[in-house]
Amino acid sequence: MAVHGHYPKLGVFGGTFDPPQNGHIAVAKAVLERLLLDHVLFVPAGNPWQKNEQTSAAQRQEMVRLAIEGYDHFSVSTVDIDREGPTYTVDTLRDISLQYPDSELFFIVGDDAFAGITSWKDFEKLGELATIVVVSRMGIAPEVPAKLSPSVNLLEIDSLPISSTQCRERIANGETLEGLVPGKVADYVAKHQLYRRNA
Ligand code: ATP
Ligand code: MG
Repeated sequence: MAVHGHYPKLGVFGGTFDPPQNGHIAVAKAVLERLLLDHVLFVPAGNPWQKNEQTSAAQRQEMVRLAIEGYDHFSVSTVDIDREGPTYTVDTLRDISLQYPDSELFFIVGDDAFAGITSWKDFEKLGELATIVVVSRMGIAPEVPAKLSPSVNLLEIDSLPISSTQCRERIANGETLEGLVPGKVADYVAKHQLYRRNA
């Protein structure tokens, strides 16, 4: 197994990242600062959960790498891409806890995604693996399942009104991603002609 850094408090930020956008970076920065984390792992989901068949896992992984280039406290984890089958957060957290046995894990999730948590595989076990940090996005007051409530930390942040869906739509409409994604991600999307209509 690769040698991993020593991070007492380690954030785990899962997502499709199709593409990674500035809102994702803002979330990771805010949680890092507010909870005094040592590092945040961005964990792109494996392919089967993908909503958009145009981009491969390898392309999303590369875009995340480009998005966080220059941020010493961020890195990409491929645990969900390396594992066969659909991505379940319980597996993500188990794999990362094996790779970082000395780290306390903080799973970072937006309120929109957290709203569906009771449909996630073994959701009631997530609290044993990590503190679940729910960041404000849509202003949904999260309903916290009783079994998880001791492990949930609701964090009000100044989130950016940006989504990956909006980014894909912008490209499909022939518009640019300016202001929505890091410059290197915009360059990658253009170079590989991602998200174009009929591409
Ligand atoms: P899509 O529109 O394709 O669903 P997305 O913008 O929601 O994409 P995801 O990759 O699905 O991006 O999100 C990964 C995680 O980041 C989720 O927990 C989501 O709630 C959170 N997130 C994404 N964008 C923001 C944002 N602008 N502010 C706060 N949280 C966000
Ligand atoms: Mg989403």
